[in-house]
Order: sequence, then structure tokens, then C-alpha cells
Amino acid sequence: MQEPFTTPLFSPADEQAMRLALDQAHNAWLVGEVPVGAVIMRAGQVIATGYNRPITTHDPTAHAEIVALRHAATLLENYRLPECELFVTLEPCAMCAMALMHARFKRVVFAATDPKTGVAGSVIDLFGQPQLNHHTRVERGLMADAAGQLLRDFFAERREAARARRAERQGLLPTGEATHLDDLP
Ligand SMILES: [Zn+2]
Repeated sequence: MQEPFTTPLFSPADEQAMRLALDQAHNAWLVGEVPVGAVIMRAGQVIATGYNRPITTHDPTAHAEIVALRHAATLLENYRLPECELFVTLEPCAMCAMALMHARFKRVVFAATDPKTGVAGSVIDLFGQPQLNHHTRVERGLMADAAGQLLRDFFAERREAARARRAERQGLLPTGEATHLDDLP
């Protein structure tokens, strides 16, 4: 007998899409951004990808979902994407959730939950508000371990780099010397 509350059954196509989203998250890490990636599918086809890059682009809205969403809407020449499904490695924030609802997405699948800013059930459930959302179905937990581990590894590496910088500032590590520079006229 099936238990009443199980994670949804994901298809091999879903897994393939999330694997692509994880590749995108790796790209974010390579440019020094928090590793979150997104992929937009329509009728079994990848139509857009995106990764988190607010620091690189000086754009606080450049979350993976928004980057992919802009590519998809431009490609389809439509501000509404009712046949599209988005796969993202981290639970969406309020900004991304509302953008996806404005675009009338059919389905959103995310991997890891975000207890700090996730609004698909963690902090609040915006997608579950019937006043806001009549369109977007949300499913969670696909490849959550891999996506969560990627984020943990990233933050561990960043903490380690910060520790090394602190040690260097405190003179615990030998550093080079600066030579004197005359004031320019
Ligand atoms: Zn977001």
C-alpha cells in the first residue's frame, strides 16, 4: 500500500532536466556565484537555461530562475509561458516565485529546500495561495541531496578561503612586502 505523503514520482525526463540544472549550478560556482541552476522545458525540449549571477552582472534580480525565464520569454516572444516547466536546484525565493506565477508556468520542480528564503513551503508557501496562483504546480525533492551537497561544499570552500585571508591579515602567514610609492604630482 502507498503511504499518503510520499515525494512525487519523477520521470527519467525530469531527472535529466534536473541534471542539466545541476550543471548550470556548477557554472555559477565557476564564476564565484552561489551555485544555483535552472532549466526550462517545454514539451520535452530544453528551451532555456540559467545560473545564478547577481554579483557578476551587478544585478540583484539575476537569480537562476529569472535568467532562464528571460531567455525563454525572449525566445518564445511571449511574456506568458503556460506550457513551460522550470527545474531549479534550490527552492525559489519570493521574487522568483512571483515571476514564475506571473508567467503562468505549468510546473516548477526544485531540488533542495531553502529554510532562509524558500517560499514553496519553507518560509511561507506562495505557490499554495489560491489568491495568487491558479496555474503553477510545485514539486520538490528531485536530486535534493546532490543540489544540497553542492551548496554545502561551496560555502565550506568560501569559509576556508575567508579563514586563510584572516590568517594572512593577522600575519600568521608570510606575505610579500610593498615597496614605497611616491605620490604622483
Ligand atoms: Zn530567486
